[in-house]
Amino acid sequence: MNRPNIVILGAGYGGIMTAVNLQKSMSSEEAKITLVNKHDYHYQTTWLHENAAGTLHHDRTRLAINDVVDFNKINFVQDTVKSIDPKSKTVKLEDGELNYDYLVIGLGFESATFGIDGIEEHALTIQNINSARKIRDHIEYNFAQYNLERGEREDLITIGVGGAGFTGIEFVAELANRIPELCQEYDVPREKVRLINVEAGPTALAGFDPELVEYAMNRLEEKALNSN
Ligand SMILES: Cc1cc2nc3c(=O)[nH]c(=O)nc-3n(C[C@H](O)[C@H](O)[C@H](O)COP(=O)(O)OP(=O)(O)OC[C@H]3O[C@@H](n4cnc5c(N)ncnc54)[C@H](O)[C@@H]3O)c2cc1C
Repeated sequence: MNRPNIVILGAGYGGIMTAVNLQKSMSSEEAKITLVNKHDYHYQTTWLHENAAGTLHHDRTRLAINDVVDFNKINFVQDTVKSIDPKSKTVKLEDGELNYDYLVIGLGFESATFGIDGIEEHALTIQNINSARKIRDHIEYNFAQYNLERGEREDLITIGVGGAGFTGIEFVAELANRIPELCQEYDVPREKVRLINVEAGPTALAGFDPELVEYAMNRLEEKALNSN
């Protein structure tokens, strides 16, 4: 009997949950299961803002795929998906090709820029481990550079965060925790650092209970005052 060929693209939240559930519920005689991912690790996307702010090391956010996926049951391919052709039921990878009977796509998200000019070219985005690590390093580099520029470049210690949605506010809160540590580490006067959150809507955390929004805003303001 021909075993169905199940291909899962991406080992993020969706992909890893699918793989783990299928390995529990199916034997390798019932289906051939292949999991494709760029890296050999899974990362907790929901913690990336902490990695980007530098309040949590990225190694605590990722785990090896073979710690949760049984490679005897699931064929793991570390590669990058280039295209999918539903007609021929084929997935093109950077280094090969896969055929499927069933395809699960869990390749993640793209950051929204709302068409704002310059965001894509000039801003850093929280996307994955590599981009979060870059944001942390960029902030630290600029704090280190500030005194080398004799404190004349306040732009180096001015951080703008675009969007006051859930992730934007989470990131701002982590930065509010991190900035006092950075000031101490790099001998930067706390009162010189500016953290600016820009939002087009009339309120932060749109869609949340107004009482919770007020609580969150008060807590953030308190943090800013306390760390001065
Ligand atoms: C900072 C932050 C906080 C968040 N907080 C929450 C929250 O509290 N609650 C909530 O519900 N959601 C939250 N989200 C959103 C949530 O993380 C995503 O909706 C969810 O991760 C999407 O799951 P996914 O499986 O589609 O993709 P992801 O979890 O993003 O995984 C995609 C996987 O595909 C891999 N990949 C990508 N492209 C390729 C390619 N071309 N070839 C091979 N592999 C590839 C990636 O390496 C990754 O392993 C948050 C997101 C962020 C960034």
